[in-house]
Amino acid sequence: MTQNQEIPNSNKTGRENKKRSWVYAMQPKGRLYNYRKYLSYFYLIVFFALPFIKYNGNPMFKFDFLNGEFTFFSVLFTPQDFVLMAMGMLIFVFFIIIFTLIYGRVFCGWICPQTIFMEMVFRRIEYWIEGDANHQKLVDKKKWTTEIYLRKTIKHILFLAISFLISNTFLAYIIGIDELWKIITEPVSAHLGGFIAIIFFTLLFYSVYAFVRELVCTVICPYGRLQGVLMDKNSIVVAYNYLRGEPRSKKRSEDVGDCIDCNMCVNVCPTNIDIRKGTQLECTNCTACIDACDMMMRKIGKPEKLITFASENNIASGKPFEFSWRIKSYSGVLVVLMGLLTILLFTRTTFDATILRVPGQLMQNNSDGTIGNMYRIKVTNKSNKSLPYRLVPVDPEVQLSYVGKHLDSLQGRVLAEETFFIKIPKDKIKNRKERLKIKLMSNDKEMAVKEAIFVSDY
Ligand code: SF4
Ligand code: SF4
Repeated sequence: MTQNQEIPNSNKTGRENKKRSWVYAMQPKGRLYNYRKYLSYFYLIVFFALPFIKYNGNPMFKFDFLNGEFTFFSVLFTPQDFVLMAMGMLIFVFFIIIFTLIYGRVFCGWICPQTIFMEMVFRRIEYWIEGDANHQKLVDKKKWTTEIYLRKTIKHILFLAISFLISNTFLAYIIGIDELWKIITEPVSAHLGGFIAIIFFTLLFYSVYAFVRELVCTVICPYGRLQGVLMDKNSIVVAYNYLRGEPRSKKRSEDVGDCIDCNMCVNVCPTNIDIRKGTQLECTNCTACIDACDMMMRKIGKPEKLITFASENNIASGKPFEFSWRIKSYSGVLVVLMGLLTILLFTRTTFDATILRVPGQLMQNNSDGTIGNMYRIKVTNKSNKSLPYRLVPVDPEVQLSYVGKHLDSLQGRVLAEETFFIKIPKDKIKNRKERLKIKLMSNDKEMAVKEAIFVSDY
């Protein structure tokens, strides 16, 4: 292949018009696979531990889709936070687009739960029980013996048990660990829906990891299918350096490339593609082929990185990968977007309110030399527990007095209302319409500051 030739099949699915053949992926060995293993240990600990961790009585993360309530870092977002959530979603979508444009599908190979569980849990159990990929392939072609049946049964029982564990943890992220505990410990009849959900998700995860496997990444996942749209020739992907590797040959001589056509990059590929055909939608950027090829290059005394992280343009121009201005500036945008999301998360107030003058009520010219207006506040405590509450005007000259029964606390997630007067000495009023600031306090903590329009005949 010459420098002017395009990478074949670029951004096309290599599976078109093909029937599924079972993938027996060899276990990779190498530096990147080790990093993935360490990352997966950390990931699995976090995944299974997080539902148990609470802060201020709130779980760290909870995604209650049924009630439209989401908890991030123990901050509860309710349907009243719709604008905030919509902005958060928008920023998140931008983040995904820009991240994919720069770094390709690296999320799929290294962070996605599907890959972590498939490659680092289920497939490793399979190697442990059924032997390496070659052995599995041979066994599946033979007439099954009692030992093979036994091994396969043990494997599927373990797969089911882990799927049950994942199903429970998955539900804990949706309904919370306390609710899940009730489903597990109380009679089935009291939580029939929850019980059915556990069984359903157990079977779903089991069928995904035991049978569907790589088809989730290559056919089902919408993010995977969007790659062709989101990526361009400058996106960083796992790529084969055809300028160096071609013409490939098993026989070594002066006029052949560095690829010895050993097929190891294909043998370790969990989606069963040949990365030498160019970037393909099935490639999850898991980097298994990099490890495999590096190993072969070391064996034949050639430099590593015949398969490496690079953009199509890097490979075509023969230049090594470098952090270009494009990558740096887009990464800067990513940092800004993440900053924005963080600000949104941490500036969100627990109390939210609107204060309006009571309709039909005229301003009052009081005999004590003050002007008064009557207001109604509609206030929500967005946390899930009852909190002390009081109103305090920012300006000390402003007097506030309640009409009827005064609220001294707000129940969690209940809309409350009360009516009050605001009085200001006439000589302190400077405008016909003044914007007064009212603090919403919980004990000594300022939860929010809201405005009330004060009118007078000034
Ligand atoms: S081609 Fe390489 S990086 Fe892509 S899925 Fe296969 S092994 Fe992983
Ligand atoms: S592992 Fe490397 S040397 Fe072997 S076939 Fe793949 S690209 Fe060629």
